[in-house]
Amino acid sequence: MMLKPSIQGLLFEELAAFCKTEGQPAFRAKQIWDWLYVKRVSSFDEMKNLPAPFRAQLAEAFTFQGLEKLETKGDSGETQKLLFKLGDNELIETVIIPSRTRKAFSDNNIHTCACVKSVPDEPRNTVCLSCQVGCRFGCAFCASGQKGLIRNLTAGEIVGEVMETAKLLGGRPDNVVFMGIGEPFDNYDEVMKAVRILNHPDGLCIGARRITISTCGVVSGIQRLAEEGLQVELSVSLHAPDEETRFKLMPVNASWPLDDLLEACRAYTEKTNRIITFEYTLIKDINDSETQARELVRLLRRFPCRVNLIPLSPVEEFDGERPDTETMKRFFQILENAGINTTLRDSKGSALKAACGQLRARRL
Ligand code: SAH
Repeated sequence: MMLKPSIQGLLFEELAAFCKTEGQPAFRAKQIWDWLYVKRVSSFDEMKNLPAPFRAQLAEAFTFQGLEKLETKGDSGETQKLLFKLGDNELIETVIIPSRTRKAFSDNNIHTCACVKSVPDEPRNTVCLSCQVGCRFGCAFCASGQKGLIRNLTAGEIVGEVMETAKLLGGRPDNVVFMGIGEPFDNYDEVMKAVRILNHPDGLCIGARRITISTCGVVSGIQRLAEEGLQVELSVSLHAPDEETRFKLMPVNASWPLDDLLEACRAYTEKTNRIITFEYTLIKDINDSETQARELVRLLRRFPCRVNLIPLSPVEEFDGERPDTETMKRFFQILENAGINTTLRDSKGSALKAACGQLRARRL
């Protein structure tokens, strides 16, 4: 099915080029950009300062994002999970997570998600975006990849996710993380395009440092990102400190073994001066031992980084459990004692069946 492109998939320069081709004055693109991302209207008809015939031309050429919201789970102010239908009836999900101040770990504050950025003082919202329909990397514990990859999202659909959440929040989100369904570096170009649209100073103006890209370890993507000159945050899903365990959990390790991955991370840090966050999902009796914690310390001593420990969010498809609190605390403490900046977070989505890919998986 050939879908009309979304206007929200255009870079500002592309919009300007379209306006020029249509014989419009140079300021037209700025006006449209403003309607889209500052005033955040939801139809071309609302763009009052554009001539009506040009509005009709725009409507002929483009859609407005093309996401239809099917379901919202959770209350406003809490974690909310949105299920969207795309133009070709495929499903994706987006999660809104309010972040509050929190210290590294205490018994009663393990209730956030891998996606949350801890920001002191003010309440903030983090939006967790999907970048693909399905995923082809098949991590054992992840609901997103159980049925493989269906297709990439376009930049317009990704930006559309943000615009839909902005409607609910009554403003743009503070942080954006690519930690929903899909592997950002397997859809590199559209993800980067979306990042540039979200980051545009005259539009949503979401700072690059407030945008996090999370990869399961696609080394070629890490190398490419190092050359972009963008200040985005990079997270790497590590989940194991040795090749054998990692390979069991993450088939991607066959293409890019742990050694190569860490070397790419070291090179990235050196080139960009940016600190990588390593995600480590703790799974009972699989990757949660003290020996493994010490092994992780040994691996990560080569360069400055942060570690984000996430208790496994149980999914039907994976026969694994989260470790008990004592075990997680011990793991955390070994990293902390070694001077590695570590947080222990919970997947808040789990109560809502909102952990990565679960809402979509339930509908399939
Ligand atoms: N493909 C990217 C981003 C998507 S997943 C990546 O792998 O990083 C975002 C994070 O959630 C990853 O660290 C992923 O490993 C983790 N995750 C997926 N399923 C999970 C589960 N059931 N419990 C805990 N973490 C999970």
